Amino acid sequence: MERSSMAALYLRKPGDVQIIQRPIPRPGPEQILVRVECAGVCGSDVHLLHTHQCKATILGHEFAGVVVQVGENVERFQPGQRVCAMPTMGCGHCNHCASGDPKYCPHVQAIGLSMPDNGGFAEYVLVGQHETFLVPDGVDMELAAMVEPLAVGLKQAQLAGCTPGQKMLILGAGPIGLATAVWARALGVGQVLVSDPVASRRALAQSLGATAVVDPGKETLEVHCERHWGGRPDVVIECIGKPGSIDMGTAILKPYGRLVVAGVHMEAEQVSRLLPFTKELQLIYSRMYEKPHYQHTLEMLAQRRIDPRPMVTHRLGLHELPDALHTMSRPNTFGKVMVDPRQVQTTRQGTAASNHH
Ligand SMILES: [Zn+2]
Ligand SMILES: [Zn+2]
Repeated sequence: MERSSMAALYLRKPGDVQIIQRPIPRPGPEQILVRVECAGVCGSDVHLLHTHQCKATILGHEFAGVVVQVGENVERFQPGQRVCAMPTMGCGHCNHCASGDPKYCPHVQAIGLSMPDNGGFAEYVLVGQHETFLVPDGVDMELAAMVEPLAVGLKQAQLAGCTPGQKMLILGAGPIGLATAVWARALGVGQVLVSDPVASRRALAQSLGATAVVDPGKETLEVHCERHWGGRPDVVIECIGKPGSIDMGTAILKPYGRLVVAGVHMEAEQVSRLLPFTKELQLIYSRMYEKPHYQHTLEMLAQRRIDPRPMVTHRLGLHELPDALHTMSRPNTFGKVMVDPRQVQTTRQGTAASNHH
């Protein structure tokens, strides 16, 4: 490659995010350089914008693109292949990596988080060969970039122990709550109730497989479940991550019920220990996914068994992303936002950003 720099969304310090030129990373051993064609915005990108936990970095960890260059000892991939990758780069050889769970590798690096010049909101991103997957024919780059949040939802649905007779309540219809609803229906759960205060998100949940939706501001979840089901949920998936939402889940569950905590709770809070005790509840925390969740998601997309596309509410060029991230920091009605990093011009080009696939 002749070019040495690329446009990237760079988080310099809390609140300061811009499109600037950064060096194009070079693939080391077992690494692959990918030209990004589509990248998704995650709630955690918005969180990172305002925390001091993150060093200056290129954001973005949900992406898909085309291989342009491979490093030493990369045998399974070659330039021109369409790929997506887990945003965790492990050593590839320890017990965690060998079992397909690189997030616990002692040498793990997080793309779009802890690697200073490597993230998905850029023209190029570096990925590890052990965490990279070929995108099957028939799965376009936008769907491939959605594998990351879908894999999160798949793991949550799996931990919920989906069964046909189950009554599932999902708290929060952000992309992760919606992804969980998609899988719950695909895995045969009969009753999927989604709670969210935003009307447009409730509508999204309905188009993605929720059997019913509820506005938690209008009536209590207890009243709603009683009227809707004549009883309490068997399982609650907490996808809010705000103080009070864990207690909300344990309060509504039936005895022996199960709470899957998926929200990222950044603030310390006191939660009730008595509620889960009196009902002998199971509390399960769920973070990210393992390799089989990625592989299965790609297969189900290729076979058109799941369709997450209705989740997407905005398609943007890279240059529109700084403003969008600030807008998403305030209460908003955004669903999934997908970014085309090849679109970096600062002049408006009509609707070009919305019809790239
Ligand atoms: Zn994410
Ligand atoms: Zn490892």
